Amino acid sequence: MPGRMVGVTRDAAGKEVYRLALQTREQHIRRDKATSNICTAQALLANMAAMFAVYHGPQGLKHIAERTHNAALILAEGLKRAGHRLHSEKFFDTLKITCSVGVSLDETVTERDLDDLLWVFGCESSAELIAEKMGERYHSETNIVRYMKRLENKDISLVHSMIPLGSCTMKLNSSSELMPITWREFANLHPFVPLDQAEGYQKLFKQLERDLCEVTGYDNISFQPNSGAQGEYAGLAAIKAYLNSKGERSRSVCLIPKSAHGTNPASAQMAGMKVQVVEVDRDGNIDMAHLTALVDKHKANLAAMMITYPSTFGVFEEKISDVCDLIHNNGGQVYLDGANMNAQVGLCRPGDYGSDVSHLNLHKTFCIPHGGGGPGMGPIGEVPPRPFLPSHPVVPMYSTNHESSLGTISAAPWGSSAILPISWAYIKMMGSKGLVHASEVAILNANYMAKRLEEHYKILFRGSKGFVAHEFILDVRPFRRRPTLKLLTWPRGCKIMPTESEDKAEMDRYCDALLGIRQEIADIEEGRMDSRINPLKFEVKESFHQLTECSVCLQMAPHSLACISSSNWDRPYTREHAAFPLPFIRPESKFWPSISRIDDIYGDQHLVCTCPPMEAYESPYEEKRASS
Ligand SMILES: *Cc1c(COP(=O)(O)O)cnc(C)c1O
Repeated sequence: MPGRMVGVTRDAAGKEVYRLALQTREQHIRRDKATSNICTAQALLANMAAMFAVYHGPQGLKHIAERTHNAALILAEGLKRAGHRLHSEKFFDTLKITCSVGVSLDETVTERDLDDLLWVFGCESSAELIAEKMGERYHSETNIVRYMKRLENKDISLVHSMIPLGSCTMKLNSSSELMPITWREFANLHPFVPLDQAEGYQKLFKQLERDLCEVTGYDNISFQPNSGAQGEYAGLAAIKAYLNSKGERSRSVCLIPKSAHGTNPASAQMAGMKVQVVEVDRDGNIDMAHLTALVDKHKANLAAMMITYPSTFGVFEEKISDVCDLIHNNGGQVYLDGANMNAQVGLCRPGDYGSDVSHLNLHKTFCIPHGGGGPGMGPIGEVPPRPFLPSHPVVPMYSTNHESSLGTISAAPWGSSAILPISWAYIKMMGSKGLVHASEVAILNANYMAKRLEEHYKILFRGSKGFVAHEFILDVRPFRRRPTLKLLTWPRGCKIMPTESEDKAEMDRYCDALLGIRQEIADIEEGRMDSRINPLKFEVKESFHQLTECSVCLQMAPHSLACISSSNWDRPYTREHAAFPLPFIRPESKFWPSISRIDDIYGDQHLVCTCPPMEAYESPYEEKRASS
């Protein structure tokens, strides 16, 4: 199932709201049982396409199609008058002329373009022949800009505060890195120019490949995979192709530690491998005894081990080289998940400490923006003796002519190549010293935050010297277990990754917020706040039962603007505490959640929105309430 499914539900105030009901990240839940490993979902591109449709509306889209087709009709008429023969009388925007030339038109075609084309084909008459001139019926730009801004306002993003998302490195995507992708030289290549003949792009690919080889210690890079997950799949396929080329087809067991990102087991399964899970010890490291036992048991069929370094638990595995040696000594290959390169760039290289293949998440470590799911780039690198990298039937790449070559991984030979200038610019502007400094500051920042929080929260895992890598996990399980706090919706752990982009003041604000929440918890624990109704918790309320027709609890937080400004305020804490709990949260900087706590049960019963008929969308900017 591609993409996401949006349904409706109600919030604590009874307001009808949209709810993301399902998304294709099944690898997070089902791991090696997953049949899809889509993680980076290219949702940004889908949003751009959706905005195009919203802006033009049904009439506008039809108008574009008609305009394009009419232009093609005019051109066809002119060509026939000039004595040319068309391959077919049935066409939409593309004419095939019998001298084996093709012309494709789109809605940007002007009357002058048509005149030029007619002239080229020796037609005397002009595009004045256009039977009807079409009026402009486009929706107004004023409205669409306001509409998009209103949607944007619902989203807390890096323009408001730090996003400490574990693993998913959310660092600065600077304007200077992003600007070039809008330049026409990068963005508006003629669709008929094959990328292998676009000299500028080729030069950029070569330089970026060289730089990424330098960073990783690998010898070859393929830019074909569009995400980390796809890179994993491609990398494992490369390992399989390599093993096959050595006549070791029976090797199919893939060892993966419990701490691995959900995509790892999903990719291994999809690449046709059998997943064996390796235990981790109390400090979050790979359990060496268990690993040795597993390797021993499966050595005849061992294909690969997938490792993440530093691990997703936020520790630099001290035995990483030993692990790699153990796998190699038993005939296996090492796949190193490179999503955490932000803690390594310039400090250490997978190719040096024993890995054979990795993906890099250019949309994490190398600055491509990926909020909301993409677009991604997950190039893979590998060490000799190879190359066993993706090939492509149209452009010559790493085509090995080898019977065990792994073939094509995605449709485009260099993946989402239009966003590669971002990573190229980041590397060039940082330089080698800057890249090392970024890794150092990323690690320093995480350790600073861990230090500030350690007296109030338990830091789940640390290295043997007491430090964390570039991210760490707060243990919130104790709160889940306490009876007075039981009804809170606690996550299992709270991951924090500040990256090098945040300054001390912002990290302090984030720590203050977490310490403030810890204080509210203590107030409940020690009886200073009502244990049933307080700014954190929810309570079962009769009226709410009736409202939603199911047994749902009323949660006090989050406090929306509607909730704070409502005329009925019957809670035992103040509005001020609810809205501005800390000194730095001021009216001018406060991010207001657009809704209160949502009713998940009602949402599960209304998984999809049903669309009103097309005519109902006359004015698409007005947020229509979904009928369900
Ligand atoms: C993000 C991530 C992945 C998957 O990368 P996508 O580009 O999101 O598919 C894999 N492993 C780790 C450790 C990650 O953080």
